[in-house]
Amino acid sequence: MLKWLVRVVLAIVVVVLVVGGYAFTQIRSLETEQITEDLYLLKGMGGNVGVLRTADGTVIVDTMTFQMQGERIRAVAEELTGQPVVMIINTHYHLDHTHGNPGFLAGTRVVATERTLHYLKTIDGAAWEGDAAALLPNETFTDARDILLGGKTIRLYHPGRGHTDGDLVVLFVDEDTIHMGDLLFHKHYPNIDLEAGGTVVQWSATLDTVKELPFTKVIPGHGDVTDRKGIDQFQTFLGQLAEIGRTSVAEGWSLDDALENGALTADADYEEITFGGLPIGLDRPFVITRAWEEATGNFERVD
Ligand SMILES: [Zn+2]
Repeated sequence: MLKWLVRVVLAIVVVVLVVGGYAFTQIRSLETEQITEDLYLLKGMGGNVGVLRTADGTVIVDTMTFQMQGERIRAVAEELTGQPVVMIINTHYHLDHTHGNPGFLAGTRVVATERTLHYLKTIDGAAWEGDAAALLPNETFTDARDILLGGKTIRLYHPGRGHTDGDLVVLFVDEDTIHMGDLLFHKHYPNIDLEAGGTVVQWSATLDTVKELPFTKVIPGHGDVTDRKGIDQFQTFLGQLAEIGRTSVAEGWSLDDALENGALTADADYEEITFGGLPIGLDRPFVITRAWEEATGNFERVD
């Protein structure tokens, strides 16, 4: 009897160690892609992370989900660039773009929009108590901000509402590249945070504003590096979603009607975002539901 119990306990310990070890490795693993001589992309569990080398230190765009990932991003970035991280830019408040911040040194410049800081302190306030508060954004702006650092020009813009009402895009002027955060999902179903000012209806117009900027290469918040065609494709997708919302109102569709009859074809090669191999609900029914909820007013805005 006792032997049997020992075996069961041992088996449980082994499973916990294997699963825990796998999760630990997954969380820490980062893939590196070089975009220009001084610009890199780090991919892993969470949103895409941009890394820019300047003569006066390294700039990081977004920090993924866990403090442990932030620490790893910092180590990998400093090894790639040979420069300490001196600045973090957070494209928006969601945890898969900000919760790695506490893995960086207190005193690091952290730049974001006013709205992003607001949501971090309200919707996400519990995560930023104690030591983490030192890595909250400490430089904020509303519409646009130019940063000159170590011979590089970085232009930050809040081009309008879309994913939330506080997203920024990062134009790396010298690299001919824009990092769009979650204003662009490439070949993946987007989150649409209606509660925090996100909108299916206005998102495409916001992207028109982005397209007026000078750039060739495009880093999305999730998915592979793309170009202007990637933005056009996403606008086609958003246009179809907005149309489903308009038809829902015009025809008096229920949510089930919208899910059944909504014409969505631009997502033919889209994939669901997974986290450690598990889907997190960003799929076709989700985006149609959000379009219907916005059009019919079935959601509650957080202030
Ligand atoms: Zn997001």
